[in-house]
Amino acid sequence: MYKVTLIPGDGIGPEVTQAAQRCIDATGVKIEWEQVLAGAEALKKDKELLPQATLSSIKKNKIALKGPVVTPIGEGFRSVNVAIRQLFNLYACLRPCKWYPGVRSRYQDIDLVVIRENTEDLYAGIEFEQGKKQTHGILEKINQISAKKISPDSALSIKPISITGTKRIIRFAFEYALANNRKRLTCVHKANIMKFTDGLFLKVAREIAEEYSGKIEFDDRLIDNMCLQLVKNPQEYDCLVLPNLYGDIISDLCAGLIGGLGLAPGANIGDEIAIFEATHGSAPKYKGRNKVNPTAMILSGVMLLRHIGEAQAADRLEQAVCAVIKEGKHVTYDFKEKQDQHTAIGTSQMAGAIIERLR
Ligand code: NAD
Repeated sequence: MYKVTLIPGDGIGPEVTQAAQRCIDATGVKIEWEQVLAGAEALKKDKELLPQATLSSIKKNKIALKGPVVTPIGEGFRSVNVAIRQLFNLYACLRPCKWYPGVRSRYQDIDLVVIRENTEDLYAGIEFEQGKKQTHGILEKINQISAKKISPDSALSIKPISITGTKRIIRFAFEYALANNRKRLTCVHKANIMKFTDGLFLKVAREIAEEYSGKIEFDDRLIDNMCLQLVKNPQEYDCLVLPNLYGDIISDLCAGLIGGLGLAPGANIGDEIAIFEATHGSAPKYKGRNKVNPTAMILSGVMLLRHIGEAQAADRLEQAVCAVIKEGKHVTYDFKEKQDQHTAIGTSQMAGAIIERLR
């Protein structure tokens, strides 16, 4: 019996996590789910975005299935998601983007893996607000030592990239590639402009690549060129490793290549703890409508099963998802040619069809 923390999350979170939980249970793997809150729901109930009980549960169980949690733009709290990743040192964000037969998409036969650094870069959350005394002090110091001057009415976001942080994500990416019979790893960066930060990321990646020479092919691309290449020839790429911000953006681009956010699963992995969650957010306009695609969350469940060593159950669940998508009958609106097609079924019913295939 495994013990897994379950965070339903906000918006469509409860619907998709429940669908995934039912599918995982239907594989026969015995899991005791410990349900806790985070985000807007937790704020309503416990007056805290990230209650201690939630943190303790993740720390104790070491595995969690998490629904999306809202992050308001601009004012208000910083991202709960980023806080969870940083608190538990979940430094690797793993996002496989695979096209399944039956999915309507501009592209077919795509099988990409995005490996995003999860703790550093502009996402480190080190920001200085415009107009604050502290910000003026920092701007003054920078302007004293830098040949290029920053306007005194600026706000600042810091982009830390370390040797330690880069080494562990690059190693993780190579080890993932080896363990999953992948052939090639592409490091994505903007080292021609950000010579010291992205430059360091690339330098460390090149050094570590030498250790894997002959086992995994290694190359690199500038982030702007990578976007062009992915739109033109996505089938040519295999595993991508990126600093945090580019990884975030490319994840959505790759989800678009395989049919949309409803199909893109993910995991945040550290040395001890792993949290499985879809790439998509809480899609508030669909909240409570039993409408959205549960596939991304169910495939995150497939990743969870693989992670705990239940590879057979994971394969069976992935095959069941695959079969339902291929048949194209018991699927949500986003699989249909016209999104308002009345033949589309609900989130819960699609999970039910997948469970039927597992019987
Ligand atoms: P979103 O991913 O929630 O939704 C964008 C659009 O994608 C939706 O309107 C919908 O058309 C489509 N979509 C998303 N999930 C789908 C699904 N399962 N099936 C079918 N279609 C789906 O992105 P957003 O609107 O930018 O963000 C909404 C909120 O979610 C924000 O508060 C954001 O901060 C948060 N968010 C949370 C996470 C997380 O918890 N990991 C990730 C991303 C965004």
